[in-house]
Amino acid sequence: YHSKAEGGNQTTNYETWMSEGHERDRKLQLELKDAFEHDQFVLHFQPLVSVNTGHINGFEVLVRWQHPTEGLMSPAMFLPALERMNLMPQLDRVVLEKSLSIVSQWYHHYQYSSYLSVNLSPLLFQDPELPVRIEQQLKKYDIPPDCLQLEIVESTAIQDIQLGVDVLSALKSLKIAVALDDFGTGYSSMSYLRQLPVDKIKIDRSFIQSLEEDATSASIVKAISSLAHGLGKTVVAEGIESPEQFAFIKQFGCEEAQGFDLYRPITEERALELLLQQKAVVSSPS
Ligand code: C2E
Ligand code: MG
Ligand code: MG
Ligand code: MG
Repeated sequence: YHSKAEGGNQTTNYETWMSEGHERDRKLQLELKDAFEHDQFVLHFQPLVSVNTGHINGFEVLVRWQHPTEGLMSPAMFLPALERMNLMPQLDRVVLEKSLSIVSQWYHHYQYSSYLSVNLSPLLFQDPELPVRIEQQLKKYDIPPDCLQLEIVESTAIQDIQLGVDVLSALKSLKIAVALDDFGTGYSSMSYLRQLPVDKIKIDRSFIQSLEEDATSASIVKAISSLAHGLGKTVVAEGIESPEQFAFIKQFGCEEAQGFDLYRPITEERALELLLQQKAVVSSPS
């Protein structure tokens, strides 16, 4: 009986797939523990560009995993596993420490002040000790707070709104900028946005990508931008992939832009090169 045979087959395949998936996951978990021990996480940097001048204001820090046999792995391939292992806070701490060390080198050795923008997972952000520990780290590296920016997704801040507001207020009084990442994709309630003391909002890539074809997207980006400006916040457009998209967000008054058409994520060496080039141009007498 044909369809029954097929059904039986599917079950077997599914079970095989499941057990392979389980094995893969176990292997991945062991390898990820090694990754912390052997310092296999590396940082890439994607420039955040001033829309008006084209200058690089700062860089978003994006983690990659230098896997011993598989090569460089993107966050989508290992962050979900780290989440299941409750190791996201540990990863964030590693990334934060590396970022501060790098930006302090730029600041002290090259007299260049640009910020690094570090993504924080919900668990780390919900730690009431976070602001104090960051304050201590800034002292340790002897750098001003404007060398650092933090990115959180809005759901993180509104999960426990009182705690979110407290942590954000403490960061604000330390003069550390915070950006709401992927804005527009969550439950972005306007009243929450008003309550949250964040400095910037980053409009999610999905709205930027449909700007050219979809008039609704243009209306949304325009509305988010004017709302954020009304609340005194800076607006960043992420995922710029064409000059046309850049023209749109410029017209809507977005201050900063990020995307593959401007710069892809690059290595630390390349990022420093760009900064030094820019410094030479800016400071050369014309
Ligand atoms: P995100 O914070 O929204 O970061 C932006 C992502 O969009 C990056 O992907 C970046 O490479 C990509 N991107 C930038 N411009 C463009 C563009 O023009 N087109 C397209 N298609 N993509 C663009 P990536 O590096 O794969 O990171 C994915 C996500 O992983 C990040 O999204 C962030 O949520 C998370 N992540 C990355 N690094 C860290 C980290 O150190 N800590 C934590 N907690 N999360 C991280
Ligand atoms: Mg981000
Ligand atoms: Mg983002
Ligand atoms: Mg995103």
